[in-house]
Amino acid sequence: MQIRLAIPEIQTDSIVDGKGIRAVIWTQGCRHHCNGCHNPMTHSFTDGYLVDVEDIKKDIARMQGQDGITLSGGDPLEQVDACLEIAKYCQSIKLNVWCYTGYTYEELLDKAKKEPNIIELLENVDVLVDGRFVLEEKSFDVPFRGSKNQRLIDPKRSLKLGKVVLANFDELDSLLNSSSKMKVFV
Ligand code: SF4
Repeated sequence: MQIRLAIPEIQTDSIVDGKGIRAVIWTQGCRHHCNGCHNPMTHSFTDGYLVDVEDIKKDIARMQGQDGITLSGGDPLEQVDACLEIAKYCQSIKLNVWCYTGYTYEELLDKAKKEPNIIELLENVDVLVDGRFVLEEKSFDVPFRGSKNQRLIDPKRSLKLGKVVLANFDELDSLLNSSSKMKVFV
């Protein structure tokens, strides 16, 4: 079955959307409408264009020098099936995955009661940046986030332990190293 992802663009090099040099897959569509959002053009569910996930995988396979892939938006959690396929592919080639969402981790667990593939997506994400952007909590002192309420979560460990576990930056460095080595074979 063909799975397609609605996107405004794919950016091949970013150093602000997660650790290292990352390719960012910007997804189209967001319901949160946070006051002060930097990407209002990604809110609409009818703009952007549809790309076959298989073509995105081919693009990822051709990339050289990126330390990982970031799913951002928009809200990637509005297109779980497509993002899951991309995340699973990245993990299969040992490429680490960051995912930004306006939902909190707890809201995602609740949503997963009706959409169980959300759990599978979280199992294939190395860092989840969760929560809406809150203008009153905007800060330049929280790396890779826009506001202090947002968290860098290790979703795999959080699911395993049944509680929120924050991402460990030392481990993120080792993920970068392993993915960089893997790029030799991609
Ligand atoms: S969740 Fe992100 S993309 Fe959506 S409105 Fe909030 S800041 Fe903007």
